[in-house]
Amino acid sequence: MTGRQRRRAPPAEPAYRPGQLLDWTNSRHWDYDGPRPCRYCGLDTQLRDSHRSPAHKVCAEEALATQARDAQAAYRQNGQTT
Ligand SMILES: [Zn+2]
Repeated sequence: MTGRQRRRAPPAEPAYRPGQLLDWTNSRHWDYDGPRPCRYCGLDTQLRDSHRSPAHKVCAEEALATQARDAQAAYRQNGQTT
């Protein structure tokens, strides 16, 4: 490496890492009755969220992240949360 090359800034730390926001290892997140359409994307899943609604873990995490981003944006814009 020559001294003239510029270093890139390290990537910004993401607000969350997909797949690592929620812990769904507990068996109550698995429905043995069979797959049902995910409440977010509509594809079948046997996973259930904390309200027992069908949801993929990554879909639930993305929804939470979106909700947090929206609340943060609203706070920045209005100076308060809604
Ligand atoms: Zn989904």
